[in-house]
Amino acid sequence: MNSDAHISQRINTIIIVGGGTAGWMTAATLAKVLGNDKYSIQLIESDAIGTIGVGEATIPHIGVFNKILGIDEQDFMRSTQATFKLGIEFINWGNVGESYIHPFGSYGVNIDSLHFYNYFLKMSKQGGNYNPEDYSVGALAARNNKFMHPLNITRSPLGNIKYAYHFDAGLYAKYLRNYAENKGVGRIEGKITRVKLQEDNGFIDSVLLEDGRVYSGDLFIDCSGFRGILIEEALGTGYEDWSNLLPCDSAIAVPTANIHPPKPYTRSVAQKAGWQWHIPLQHRTGNGHVYSSRFMCDEQARQILLNNVEGGLLAEPRVVRFKTGMRRKFWNKNCVAVGLSSGFIEPLESTSIHLIQTSIKKLLEFFPGKYFNQGNIDAYNEILQRNLLFIRDFIVLHYKATHRQDSAFWNYCRTMPIPDSLEKRIDLYRQEGKIYHDSNELFSEDSWFAVMQGQGLESNNHHPLVDVLSEQQLRNFFSEIKSVVANSVNAMPTHADYIANYCAQ
Ligand SMILES: Cc1cc2nc3c(=O)[nH]c(=O)nc-3n(C[C@H](O)[C@H](O)[C@H](O)COP(=O)(O)OP(=O)(O)OC[C@H]3O[C@@H](n4cnc5c(N)ncnc54)[C@H](O)[C@@H]3O)c2cc1C
Repeated sequence: MNSDAHISQRINTIIIVGGGTAGWMTAATLAKVLGNDKYSIQLIESDAIGTIGVGEATIPHIGVFNKILGIDEQDFMRSTQATFKLGIEFINWGNVGESYIHPFGSYGVNIDSLHFYNYFLKMSKQGGNYNPEDYSVGALAARNNKFMHPLNITRSPLGNIKYAYHFDAGLYAKYLRNYAENKGVGRIEGKITRVKLQEDNGFIDSVLLEDGRVYSGDLFIDCSGFRGILIEEALGTGYEDWSNLLPCDSAIAVPTANIHPPKPYTRSVAQKAGWQWHIPLQHRTGNGHVYSSRFMCDEQARQILLNNVEGGLLAEPRVVRFKTGMRRKFWNKNCVAVGLSSGFIEPLESTSIHLIQTSIKKLLEFFPGKYFNQGNIDAYNEILQRNLLFIRDFIVLHYKATHRQDSAFWNYCRTMPIPDSLEKRIDLYRQEGKIYHDSNELFSEDSWFAVMQGQGLESNNHHPLVDVLSEQQLRNFFSEIKSVVANSVNAMPTHADYIANYCAQ
């Protein structure tokens, strides 16, 4: 193909529908990567409809996203009232009264190709009080409210600090809007009331606003939230419902004033029919109670939320409904769904913003020409779907691996049928003490171990190669790692001091 033919096949106009976190993350990245001389990028959002207004906890990959955009961390943290996040504390999940931290980063030190958890499973069976958190710099620092950036040294836990952020989602969208508009993205305010399809192939032709304005495009990116006004309402793509596996379908959220210095981790406290989040920001705490309306009414959920927040309310509690699941295709014809329009697992492990990031990355990898090759679209859908199913299984594990018998909700979760893919992982861990892991999945062996061990899943065996080391050698190995991790955490500043020096408003 000569270069003129190539140019004529190039997409010219990209219309992004929606200005929430998904819309502005997409707009900012496309503006940065594609530039504004060859592509026209327009974002349409409705002030009257607004955004979902939740989604404030992230995982470490967000740092890569910000770096790609060339965002300065201190400026970003000041502008979004951000704090650092080292992981999530899960309280009352295995049993009422229990707590564990799922930290970012790894545990201990791997020996040759064997993960540390293999040695841990043997040692914890030998008696003695072994706690995985003593071997993770992230978990121990979180417990002690400490934080610092990783040092540039490999053979120390201080070189292995993995972190993400808590931020104000509204401020983050505003920050990215500013970034994208400066790079030439056009913002159109208005409500879309009709979507016109092309007669011959059913592709999206244009969107019509309430006031009569019409916008045509080659590629449409649906960031319109749960409704999916392009991918679902216009194209009827379909939704795979996961509410039998992830029965929570509602959340009630409220911000409160800070009364303690912000903790460097999210807290997730299991309640009778769901769980409650506490997300500490610099200027306030985000709280929310995620619950299943099959097992609890809104008023009861509201009372539980209000009984378990600290600090004065800064707004009226607000209910958000959702349906866990995924769109049957994320990319259909000339429309790509990004963000909540593509599906929603549930917020337990803060994966939604990461999935927005993944969708954008894959969209760039499989960026189409005007002819929209179907193989290209299929490849995109297949890869994203696989990613999502791995994450779904990991989230379902938290509900399935409970021992709680104190409510109908937990009895349901404990006994519900689960996908074979997850059943096999649980069986392998129980029978062999091994963790199945696919190299393409988001959560590492250490993450699976954190939840399986933290919620008291028993393994009956350990990896045979662990026995190459004598028990005395293992005891020495464990005590050395424990003391190095403790000394490292002792040397770290408090999270509050670190924020005050690094990025306070
Ligand atoms: C309870 C809850 C807690 C969550 N917590 C987390 C978390 O801690 N971490 C995380 O990563 N994710 C979390 N999420 C997910 C996260 O909130 C979303 O992934 C993120 O906010 C992106 O949302 P969005 O941009 O897709 O949709 P929205 O924020 O809903 O934005 C939709 C946009 O589309 C526009 N729009 C809609 N219809 C029209 C129309 N007809 N015309 C014009 N414009 C229109 C709206 O105006 C808005 O701008 C949570 C979600 C829920 C429900």
